[in-house]
Amino acid sequence: MRGKEPLVTCDNCGRKMPRGKAVSWEKTIRFGTDPGSGSNVRFMSTRKVYYCISCAKHKGIFERKKEDAIRHAKKF
Ligand SMILES: [Zn+2]
Repeated sequence: MRGKEPLVTCDNCGRKMPRGKAVSWEKTIRFGTDPGSGSNVRFMSTRKVYYCISCAKHKGIFERKKEDAIRHAKKF
């Protein structure tokens, strides 16, 4: 049987693809922002989302992942 891998949905365009082909990304979500000041963040949370390759490219996810890798490498 084909398609053993679970399908995930691209958070941006809604396209479905096997998880192995998707780009996972920790999306930061803010709750309780005050529209007046814009900086009064009460809660912050991350949610794991998936993007298809084209959306990941479009959103610069690969660049950001690279930056993260460099930052982590410097830390240790
Ligand atoms: Zn997409």
